[in-house]
Amino acid sequence: MKGREYSNGMLPAGQYPKSRRYDVIIVGMGVAGLTVALSLDKKLRIALVSKNSLDESSTYKAQGGMAVAAGTDDSAAQHAADTLHVGKGLCSKESVAVLTREAPAALDFLQTMGTRFCKSEQGLELAREGGHSRKRVVHHYDFTGRHIAEVLARQTAGRSNIECWEDTFLIDILTNAQGCCGCLVKKKKQTLQLLAPAVVIAAGGYSGIFGRSTNSVAANGDGIAAAYRAGAVITDMEFVQFHPTAVTLPTGKVFLVSEALRGEGALLVNAAGERFMPNYHESAELAPRDEVSRAMLAELERQQGGCLYLDARALGQDYLMERFQAIYAELAEHGYFMEKQLIPVLPTAHYTIGGIKTDLWGQSSIPHLYACGESAATGVHGANRLASNSLLEGVVFGRRVAAHIHDNSRNPLQTADFSAAERRKRHSLPPVALLRKKMDVTAGVVRQGRELKDMTEWLHQQQEANRQEEGQPDFSADNAYLLAGLLVEAALLRRESRGGHYRADYPVQNDRDFKKHSIHVWGKKVSLQ
Ligand SMILES: Cc1cc2nc3c(=O)[nH]c(=O)nc-3n(C[C@H](O)[C@H](O)[C@H](O)COP(=O)(O)OP(=O)(O)OC[C@H]3O[C@@H](n4cnc5c(N)ncnc54)[C@H](O)[C@@H]3O)c2cc1C
Repeated sequence: MKGREYSNGMLPAGQYPKSRRYDVIIVGMGVAGLTVALSLDKKLRIALVSKNSLDESSTYKAQGGMAVAAGTDDSAAQHAADTLHVGKGLCSKESVAVLTREAPAALDFLQTMGTRFCKSEQGLELAREGGHSRKRVVHHYDFTGRHIAEVLARQTAGRSNIECWEDTFLIDILTNAQGCCGCLVKKKKQTLQLLAPAVVIAAGGYSGIFGRSTNSVAANGDGIAAAYRAGAVITDMEFVQFHPTAVTLPTGKVFLVSEALRGEGALLVNAAGERFMPNYHESAELAPRDEVSRAMLAELERQQGGCLYLDARALGQDYLMERFQAIYAELAEHGYFMEKQLIPVLPTAHYTIGGIKTDLWGQSSIPHLYACGESAATGVHGANRLASNSLLEGVVFGRRVAAHIHDNSRNPLQTADFSAAERRKRHSLPPVALLRKKMDVTAGVVRQGRELKDMTEWLHQQQEANRQEEGQPDFSADNAYLLAGLLVEAALLRRESRGGHYRADYPVQNDRDFKKHSIHVWGKKVSLQ
């Protein structure tokens, strides 16, 4: 297959990247991508692309578990009510109904694949997390994500129709007159076209554009950036969930300490060792994450600096070492012993709500381009995600994407054009570490209009001042700068506070003017709709 000449620094002018054809291309080997791959018909030839190893995905790092109304005192309706409450008026009710109604089927799917969730005498052992009115989180000890990822990856390895493209970087999405028809990838030094009648972006979120993040730097939003350049509608980029309890280890690594610990009774205490959350919220430590994170910053200000701590001592060594074995081991390795010490914690960028806008079947605004998992904005999280709803979202909507691909005619392959890739400008940008530091300061838990405006100008200057005439762009840096720009623009436009977006200069939720979603489309100004 040939397309328009493509010469954006990747190839000598006049050459076309070599192409490989599949029935479906899935970008991302986290819970969402693996679920799609395993839910598609075994007759389809699938390319499963990932830029790094399994253990660098956010899925692998997930600790707490997956929300599903499995208790006798619970129901899908109650799970939906909690999700809507935490989402602060911006959830799609239809998406939330789908998520919560199909949660039991998602659980069945994972169990059929071989996932083993912890059990008690009553059946599945259910944990409690912030924002949930019931015990509702199924888990595999405290390393649920690693277990799910390994089980699903083992299953894909056993399927001869799935070809894994590891260490392969999605550069851009290819389109034709009918919509999406493939993607441009880089493996080692080679640039290739992977072509297929259906493409699924399951490439995770963009918390890695913050310096202090529970995600790896690989969570760079590459899939969202590629979809944006291809013309897909991107929404809700300003909403970022900051997890209240991450600890900075002596190595500098930021490590999450699961909310499930607070669900089991661990408390947050200030520098004087006093519990403070009851002064801020009636649900105390189990308030939604945005509320706990802001309360922590307020408490830090009140005590004029110093540290805040997680106090899990009352849970006892035996219980901590069994139920929270992975967290216990990681902390102990660095000299923190939860049964006898307070653990210093701080709010940290954790989950990004914005992404590629999809319908209930994971279809983006570009025909034949699908998105699911953290890359997608399905509408289930609104302005803030209910804890443990994202592994669930990956499975529920991953299965829906597969069903839709199965039932619908797909894009007949014609000529691919490279217009999305051609939208990349060549920059020689400052190190991404600098961008991340600046994002922590300007777009963190508490934002200010003036700082957001300065950041917009700084981002603009970097892109204009550092145009590069020759050489290949740094694709990752390019994407990080692009997404930072979208986030900051949307945060500046939203002159109110809601869920994962708090403006100190507009601290009140304003439904009259802002019960809307920010929308980004290539070539248009950001808007609220
Ligand atoms: C520390 C931590 C704990 C968490 N705990 C929980 C929890 O208990 N419960 C819960 O529900 N959620 C939890 N979350 C959130 C949840 O894990 C993620 O939202 C979810 O796993 C995202 O899955 P995903 O499949 O969308 O993406 P990921 O798992 O992030 O996978 C992304 C995939 O895309 C690939 N990729 C990215 N860019 C490119 C590119 N340019 N080219 C090719 N491939 C690319 C990556 O290689 C990777 O394979 C946690 C997150 C973290 C970081």
